[in-house]
Formats: sequence, C-alpha cells, structure tokens
Amino acid sequence: MKKVIVIGAGFAGLSAATSLAKSGFDVTLLEKNSSQGGRARKLEIDGFTFDMGPSWYWMPDVFENFFKEFDTTVAEQYDLIRLDPSYAVFFSKDEVLRIPANLNEFYQLFEKHEPGSSVPLKKFLADAEYKYNVSMSDFVHKPSLSILEFIDFRILNAALRMDLFKSISKYIRNHFSNPQLIQLLEFPVLFLGAKPNETPALYSMMNYADIVLGTWYPQGGMYKIVEAMVNVAVKQGVKIKTDETVSKINIENGQAVSVVSNGKVYKADIVIGAGDYHHIEQNLLDEKYRNYTQTYWKSRKMAPSCLMYYLGIDKKIEGLEHHNLFFDTDFDKHAEEIYDRPQWPSHPLFYSTCASKTDSSVAPAGKENLVLLIPIAVDIEDNEQIREKYFDIMMNRLEHITGQSIKPFVIVKKSYCISDFKNDYNSFGGNAYGLANTLMQTAILKPTLKNKKINNLYYAGQLTVPGPGVPPSIISGQIVAKEIIKRFQITNLK
Ligand SMILES: Cc1cc2nc3c(=O)[nH]c(=O)nc-3n(C[C@H](O)[C@H](O)[C@H](O)COP(=O)(O)OP(=O)(O)OC[C@H]3O[C@@H](n4cnc5c(N)ncnc54)[C@H](O)[C@@H]3O)c2cc1C
Repeated sequence: MKKVIVIGAGFAGLSAATSLAKSGFDVTLLEKNSSQGGRARKLEIDGFTFDMGPSWYWMPDVFENFFKEFDTTVAEQYDLIRLDPSYAVFFSKDEVLRIPANLNEFYQLFEKHEPGSSVPLKKFLADAEYKYNVSMSDFVHKPSLSILEFIDFRILNAALRMDLFKSISKYIRNHFSNPQLIQLLEFPVLFLGAKPNETPALYSMMNYADIVLGTWYPQGGMYKIVEAMVNVAVKQGVKIKTDETVSKINIENGQAVSVVSNGKVYKADIVIGAGDYHHIEQNLLDEKYRNYTQTYWKSRKMAPSCLMYYLGIDKKIEGLEHHNLFFDTDFDKHAEEIYDRPQWPSHPLFYSTCASKTDSSVAPAGKENLVLLIPIAVDIEDNEQIREKYFDIMMNRLEHITGQSIKPFVIVKKSYCISDFKNDYNSFGGNAYGLANTLMQTAILKPTLKNKKINNLYYAGQLTVPGPGVPPSIISGQIVAKEIIKRFQITNLK
C-alpha cells in the first residue's frame, strides 16, 4: 500500500485523507493542534460551547455528496435543521429585515421594499441557479492544472452566460435600486473576500445558495461536521495524529520521501500539504522546491482576517436571531479599510451568531452563547488594547440597536484575532478566509494543487482550488484525492 502523509486536519485534509483511504492508500493525517477541524475547532468554557470559526452552513448538497461517498448520510451523522428566519439584517434600531426561509415570503419582502421587484428577482435567482448548477457540475471539481480543462464547447458556452467579466455590484444594481435590498444581495460577497465591484457577477450563485438552498445548522454546532468527518475518516482507516507539528518535508531525487514532525520521521510515497499553502511552501520546503516566491505571495489579494469575541451572557437577549448582520454603517468604507487602505475600520459593520437561540446544548439554561465578528484587513497590528476598543464598539452598538443592557451580563469572554490565526494555524498574514475570489485568482490562476517540481507533493485547502469556505475546502480535498488516485492508478480496494 502506498503511504500518504496529509499535513493538517481541517476540512480539506480530512476530506482528502478519507477519499484516499477508501481507495486503498495507507493514510496518516498529522495535525499540529490537539483537536481536528482547523479553523472550525470548538471552544468549551464553563458550560458554553463555541464554534471558533464557520457558523453559516450553506450548500448542503456538498456535505450530502461527501458523506454519500462513504455510504452514509448527513442525517445519519448529525441533526441538520433549516434556520427560519435564515438571518436578520439590522440597518438601524428601527429597520430590521428578517430573511424568511420561504421563497414566496422572500418575494413579498422584496415587493414591500421595492414595488415590482419580485419580477426581476425571479429572473435574478433563475440566473443564479444556472450559475450554481453549472459551477457545481462543470467547474468546481476541476483540478485547474491546465486551461485545456476548460476548452470544451459546452463549458465555453456556459462561461459566456456566467457573467465572469461583469462586477456583482453593477449586476445587482441593474436589477434593483432599493439600497437595503442591494446590501442584502451584496452580503454573501463578504465571504468571498473582495469588494463587490471587484467580484465577478458569477458569484450571484451565492445568492442562490443563500436564498433558495438556505441557511442550515447542525444541532450541537458546526463542530458536529468535524466530528462526523473524523468518524468517517477513522472508519476508512485514516490514522489521525494530533499534537504533531510538521517542520520539514524531505526531498530526495526529486521525490518527497518523508516529513518530520516533533523530531520524528514519517516515511511517505505521497505528501499532501493541507495546512495554509504559504506555510507549507515557505516553511517546510527548501526554496528550490517551492512553486511560488515570497514576492508572489505578497502580491496576492487576501480575503479578510477577523476579530472575534466568544461571549457567555448571563441572561437571554431579546431581538436577536441565530445569525445577525449589523449593517448600520457604510459597507463601502469598511471594505476600503480592509482592501484598499488596510487599517482598523473606523465604523465597522459586524455580525453576531447567537447559536443558543436554536440550540439549548451550547449554553447553560437561561444564558446566551454569543459570538461577535468584525472582518478586518490581514496583517494589521493586533494587541489587547485594540481588541478591547472594538469590543466596546460592538457592544455599544448591540445594546443600542437591541435596546437592552448586555455588557454587565458578560460572564465568559475570549477574543480571537490575527496573532491567534498565525499561532494556531500558521495562517498567512493571519487570514481567516484564504485568498480573495477575484477573477485574477480563479481556477488556473489560483495557487496550483500540485507541486511543479516534486511530482508526489500536492496541496489542498482554502488557498488552492476551488477556494475558501467549508464546502469548497471539502471539495478541494476530493479534487486532490482524485488526482492522486488517477496518477498512482490505485483502484478501489475496499
Ligand atoms: C472566523 C471564520 C469564520 C468562517 N465562517 C465561515 C462560514 O460561516 N461558512 C463557511 O463555509 N466558511 C467559513 N469560514 C471559512 C472556512 O472555515 C475555511 O475555509 C475552512 O475551514 C478551511 O479549511 P482548510 O482545511 O482549508 O484549512 P484549516 O481549517 O486551516 O486547516 C488546516 C489545518 O492544518 C494545520 N496545520 C497547519 N500547519 C501545520 C503543520 N506545520 N503541521 C501540522 N498541521 C498543520 C492547522 O492547524 C489546521 O488544523 C470561516 C473561517 C473563519 C476563520
């Protein structure tokens, strides 16, 4: 059996390892932290259980397809519910949009704010559905190793309808004029890591994911996905070792032959770097074997980092939903302070997850589990004083908008920001969400999943194809596993 070493047990590493184990490879997964899940780990303090990273469960089809590969289903693994309302958007103390899960109610909401808008909305969503379906069937699973993969009449024809060269900002404004509805439709771009006027209109497919496919929640928290994936990985025979920090990938005669972790040597026939791509290349590989230089990395457009607070609140908070977006400030200015003139934002928008609104297991009775998050530029100064300043800014706004006192009821408080991303995940610049999804960083223009000089060294994760987010990271692991299976010609042995 060929030995595969996977570095990093985030979604991408778990996904790649499990697919390869199923196909008969001898897979060992080495993870530097004491638990799996990477950016999606959980934090338990005094009866509160916080999801440390992702909280929006979108694109349920991707999770379903993943588990189906291993003869199980999402329903067998965790209890998934659709949130309704999907989320609330606070534009001011008195202007709140609660986004209904029901599509007809969503059309009515548009009509209320912009009479006649349900007609263009139906067309907008039909186009978004087309883009989603074509992307998921023809684009997202491509290894993007060559432009030739995309030269196919059907794909080229589809690409013309995908609005690759129009910005999503303009595209949305061509359909709607109400500023709140525009902001609502631009919000998923927050996850994509670029300003709406620099994000291709292709990504209106995220509006389809948001509005039609819906926002879901696994009871017990997002960490349930990690537990389920670990469970499946172990069943397929993956050996998962935590507290293993890989410090070197050894190369001999143009082949990766082993990795060094905590001073121990693990032999390998194939290596997958599923930690941050930049770290794997710059810190674990000798310079002559790297795909990219430091100058290349510096020229990349990164998606944001973030400041988060995990809070236990000693009372119930009125007026919040499970997901809450505080858009009571200028989105464009905040985006400029993330991407154009990187600095701490002057008037940040922020969002909060209050998972205890849906799930009584994540907070003690009568208390609330509250996570606050501000997207910020990567690699800006991070210290306790700055974090506290922004804690006060978010708290004051939260108290003002929801009209109640919250700060005196904080009984658990932990912050997480740029230096934590660097320390915990070897994150490049302390990024939270990987590379921005601009046209110039899409498909073959992303860091490639294969080392160009070492033919048994691969990469997976949010910095390579198809991109950031939980579903794309899972897909990234599947793509790399497929490439390895194809190249090393191992057929399914189980
Ligand atoms: C705060 C936050 C909120 C988010 N919200 C959402 C959301 O709501 N919905 C969504 O879909 N996505 C969201 N995302 C994005 C999503 O979480 C990520 O895209 C995804 O988890 C990345 O998975 P990954 O496997 O590529 O990387 P990671 O999760 O970073 O996993 C890489 C692993 O490699 C390990 N590693 C690194 N270096 C080494 C080494 N030298 N040796 C051994 N191990 C190493 C790390 O410890 C880590 O466990 C969010 C991300 C963050 C940070």
